[in-house]
Amino acid sequence: MLALAGYPLDLDFVFLDPAVEACAAPLGDHLHADYGDQAMLARFCQACDLATYEFENVPAAVAEFVAERIALYPPPQALAAGQDRLGEKRLFDRLRIPVPRYLPVAAREALELAARNIGLPAVLKTRRMGYDGKGQALLRAEQDLDAAWQRLGGQTLLLEAFVPFERELSCLAARGRDGDMVFYPVVENVHRDGILRTSEPRRDDPLQAQAEDYTRRVAEHLDYVGVMAFEFFVAGGQLHANEIAPRVHNSGHWTIEGAETSQFENHLRAIAGLPLGSTALRGHCVMFNLIGAPPDNIAMARVPGLHIHHYGKTPKPQRKVGHATLTAETPEALAARRALIEPLIP
Ligand code: AMP
Repeated sequence: MLALAGYPLDLDFVFLDPAVEACAAPLGDHLHADYGDQAMLARFCQACDLATYEFENVPAAVAEFVAERIALYPPPQALAAGQDRLGEKRLFDRLRIPVPRYLPVAAREALELAARNIGLPAVLKTRRMGYDGKGQALLRAEQDLDAAWQRLGGQTLLLEAFVPFERELSCLAARGRDGDMVFYPVVENVHRDGILRTSEPRRDDPLQAQAEDYTRRVAEHLDYVGVMAFEFFVAGGQLHANEIAPRVHNSGHWTIEGAETSQFENHLRAIAGLPLGSTALRGHCVMFNLIGAPPDNIAMARVPGLHIHHYGKTPKPQRKVGHATLTAETPEALAARRALIEPLIP
């Protein structure tokens, strides 16, 4: 989606992706290599003026290697910040951003103590490599500790308080090389089984200014360049930090059709040193992720205002294989169209 937004801006693309079936491969040169393949990384750097990443588990050492040779945005410290849930939460604390209570957990006994200290329910999470609800266990009662430890123990962990949230919001922002920032309207997200299902931008949300302030604090602290997403829980009408993603984000896919400038275009504008584009909404919209086997294309194509995006990925249970954004001029028209698409998307 970055490349699709970039060709009209007169940019060309080279992709380094360890996956054989890299979904960007048809859109440019695909260097198929492991992240640790230094010869291939050097070739990548020779072929490019500028690099970025759209997956936060790119090893930090690889980011450093690239950043020593060509401009890399977002900067490696932003990648590192997003890779460690514990470091991330400590950063939120330092920046005075409210965060659910958390404790590092290094041993089975520490889990016992942390559960007592934080109280249950709580969520046990791996510090690293977690996404889409992977590497997490919800602890409802004392007897859940053993099973959770058996599944996740052996990795560095943290326990955090379960937040009985009213809503989940994300704030998407772009920051240019000159420090200029633009913010999209906050997005309301619905997850099931830890996986994002729908995202809907909110006009005039009462938490917009607060979300922007917190996002700005993190972006400025990291000297960030590019698009960043900050995910929040809303409890008691207040924002509580969940995590940041140092990249274009699934909760911003609606911006392709729903905003004046998509998150992908704004990411490229930011890293290429171009002025940032308007984040204003174009009408009303909601994005649905296509997870597992996608619905019938003909049935989806019949829904007015539905914009279909397949990623060319092999369907697997719980795998995101595409998304679809429904647009309409009024909230009423959006609701009527939504009634047509919802039965198609499990
Ligand atoms: P994460 O990968 O940490 O963003 O977690 C994925 C999803 O799991 C979140 O978007 C929430 O829906 C849920 N979740 C994670 N941590 C918590 C928590 N501390 N309290 C309540 N729900 C949570």
